[in-house]
Amino acid sequence: MSVFAHVDFDQHEQVVYGHDKASGLKAIIAIHDSTLGPALGGCRMWNYATDEEALRDVLRLSRGMTYKSALARLPLGGGKAVIIGDPHTGKSEALFQAMGDFVDSLGGRYITAADSGTGVAEMRIMAERTRHVAGAGQREAFGGGSRDGDPSPSTAYGVFIGIQAAVAHRLGRQDLSGIRVAIQGVGQVGFGLAKLLKEAGAQLWVTDIQAANVQRAVAQLGATAVGQHDIYGLDVDVFAPCALGAIVNLQTLEALRAPIIAGAANNQLADASLAEVLRRRECLYAPDYAINAGGIIDVCYERTGGSAAQLKAHIEGIGPTLTEIFQRAEREGATTAAIADRMARERLQGGL
Ligand code: NAD
Repeated sequence: MSVFAHVDFDQHEQVVYGHDKASGLKAIIAIHDSTLGPALGGCRMWNYATDEEALRDVLRLSRGMTYKSALARLPLGGGKAVIIGDPHTGKSEALFQAMGDFVDSLGGRYITAADSGTGVAEMRIMAERTRHVAGAGQREAFGGGSRDGDPSPSTAYGVFIGIQAAVAHRLGRQDLSGIRVAIQGVGQVGFGLAKLLKEAGAQLWVTDIQAANVQRAVAQLGATAVGQHDIYGLDVDVFAPCALGAIVNLQTLEALRAPIIAGAANNQLADASLAEVLRRRECLYAPDYAINAGGIIDVCYERTGGSAAQLKAHIEGIGPTLTEIFQRAEREGATTAAIADRMARERLQGGL
């Protein structure tokens, strides 16, 4: 399996394979670009069918982190780690200690964080072996008090700010009162977002594969529950995907009616060409990595210090960034996805 000839190889600086016989660790770390700072990105644990699948994931995800951090004006490069293993049955303390050693061996060129299949508990184990880990400690909360290193509240706040920007641009409305939002997935980010929207006076429709999560949104926020497949066809102002990737695809597009798509999920478009389909339909798409950057901003502030108020102000920068994306896309007749990529490259080349 060649790395340099791989279709997803994009001038990555470093791709390293790690193996630990005793714990069974098999992992890959990819550093895509460290122009703006050390490469930071989550450590994903997934039951990849093949090593090739894991390599593909780590190459693509690390590149995505370069773009996300550059667009969010963070002094960070892009990197990612993948552990090949079942996140439900394959975890052990020894495995994450070995992963901590692997991260440490790169001497800080790569900083790890939680991702699908890992969380605060795993970050704490890795932190026993390396200081190049984010999300393992306690943080100051926005509203005072302390919280753990889970960045989801910051991601939710950033998506909320992004929805405000999208609504202002597409619907000409400066507040969210009465705005109808359909949220797919009311987990950590989706539920946090729902709370903020409710406080701002929005009307909510929610779906989730976990009935308890739906019930929580209905009971606590007065949201209307809808079936998994009914979420797309609702007559709402905003569709907020907060569950899985690739949910904007040819099937869902047949049903989708919302003039705005703005949510937390990564890789929302099943195919890059769908950005143009959305543009032609006058559906305003908030590029996923622009609107969901609150989490990486949170993690960056944990590393570099800074108060909760400074963190909040940085997350609020997602609003003007999105507005610039929307305006340039309109002016240039381009998709919002293409403009986000261009702006990320400009910020990467021009420095912070
Ligand atoms: P989570 O697992 O807490 O929540 C996801 C929710 O979606 C769960 O409640 C799950 O039951 C539900 N779900 C799964 N499949 C579904 C389906 N087919 N239909 C409806 N609901 C479904 O995850 P999260 O941390 O809230 O992250 C949500 C999304 O945002 C993910 O795509 C994640 O990659 C992305 N994201 C999260 C963060 C963060 O800080 N947590 C940062 C950036 C991006």
